[in-house]
Amino acid sequence: MKITDAQLKEIYAHAKESYPHECCGFLLGHFEAGGQVRRVRRAANQNTERTDRFVIAPEEFAQAQFAADDAELDIIGIYHSHPDWPPIPSQTDMDSAWDEVFYLITSVHEGRPLNTNIWRLARSGPRRFEQVSLEILDENELKDTE
Ligand SMILES: [Zn+2]
Repeated sequence: MKITDAQLKEIYAHAKESYPHECCGFLLGHFEAGGQVRRVRRAANQNTERTDRFVIAPEEFAQAQFAADDAELDIIGIYHSHPDWPPIPSQTDMDSAWDEVFYLITSVHEGRPLNTNIWRLARSGPRRFEQVSLEILDENELKDTE
């Protein structure tokens, strides 16, 4: 999956602000060519009690889908942070995952975003996540691919 340096910084800023809770949001873009993020859209984490999971309200999904349709994009991914935990999907992440969607997880250690992994449900075999490689582009490289 491809993301720009600026988009990743938006996610890191959100993760930092939300610490010690998880942040969450949408990645709008195109599934073609291995997935290309065009826009990062924040969502509110409805779960304010626990620090190890996130819940996005159905209305926010609907609004994100509307915004994506409007811009001729798809919701290609969901991002969230793991405060003081590695960027590896939890059982909760696994239980709520959808096919085809990219799951971007940023690990935040003591308030500082550290590293990011991308995951997607395996297309065959038992239900499990597979790691997807992440390509970080600068804005100029993005223009070249359009
Ligand atoms: Zn998680």
